[in-house]
Amino acid sequence: MNIEQLIRKNIACLKPYSCARDEFKGRASVYLDANESPFNEPFNRYPDPMQSELKTLVAKLKNVRESQIMVGNGSDEPIDLIYRIFCEPYSDNVVAFEPTYGMYQVAADINAVEYRKVPLRPDFSLDADRLLAATDEHTKVIFLCSPNNPSGNLMRSSEIEKILRQFQGITVIDEAYIDFADAPSYLTQLDNYPRMIVLQTFSKAWAMASVRCGLAFAAENIIAYFNKVKYPYNVNLLSQHFVLERIKNHQEEKNEWVRKILSERQPLADALRRLPIVETVYPSDANFLLVKVNDANRIYQSLVEQSIITRNRNSVALCGNCLRITVGTAKENKTLLKALKTI
Ligand SMILES: *Cc1c(COP(=O)(O)O)cnc(C)c1O
Repeated sequence: MNIEQLIRKNIACLKPYSCARDEFKGRASVYLDANESPFNEPFNRYPDPMQSELKTLVAKLKNVRESQIMVGNGSDEPIDLIYRIFCEPYSDNVVAFEPTYGMYQVAADINAVEYRKVPLRPDFSLDADRLLAATDEHTKVIFLCSPNNPSGNLMRSSEIEKILRQFQGITVIDEAYIDFADAPSYLTQLDNYPRMIVLQTFSKAWAMASVRCGLAFAAENIIAYFNKVKYPYNVNLLSQHFVLERIKNHQEEKNEWVRKILSERQPLADALRRLPIVETVYPSDANFLLVKVNDANRIYQSLVEQSIITRNRNSVALCGNCLRITVGTAKENKTLLKALKTI
């Protein structure tokens, strides 16, 4: 199956918006082409629609080509774009496992695309055959989240690769939490799987959730469609500059933060397991723990009353009586444990 056959017809023949400055960027001395104000440099100018400077750095950082990168307003933007590029409303469908990240379904609902969910095994492991069995000739996309939110576990590479090999549509691997996992990214496989899209983000390990900057990586011809469909100026100047600066000068600080979070994760899990209200702390490859307690609603509420907010996943498939708890600083984790001991 080649990519062109997977693209919606209106997108395949779309004539994209052409930005005023594409041709002359940085080469002229007077710009009177975009109805910008001449005052308040540099904020008066529209930002680079292709984020070239940022992509140069990301390409080096991730060891991919610039043409394999799409920079988004968070990774939620490429999730939505995937529907708009590949999925015909009211006729195509996508398949994902459950429980998983809620935005895949929300974006499906917004785009009027059928969302098919296949449960993970009770230990949250992936059954590729079951996922593949849920696909049909209208399935354009499979969403895989690894490490998965909210269960926290990496999916086995043998199962992921089975899907990458056998599924003829687009396979998305959401690696929002990959920096916390002891496993290689699928970015190393970008040239081997022409229908794979890998999502990463600056929101978690890089600690820039407020900046709204996410990444999609894929073959050049897929990235070209992202560029065609996205808003021209989808990442603002302040965000582009801030992320650029963090990559240039603060990579070691980010690594140190990841090490700190990882050094907190195991002791926190152990301490939680010792509490009588805790039934299971699931193994985590991410910066959070999924914790089964004896009464999630009551404990969640009691924590709120003590001014501590966790994520109640009680009503999510396979997550009955589970709270999702982010690993915080040593001090925050201690505060949490102290509060739980009083419940
Ligand atoms: C947090 C998260 C994201 C990040 O979304 P952004 O829009 O980049 O902030 C993506 N996928 C998953 C599974 C997440 O948990």
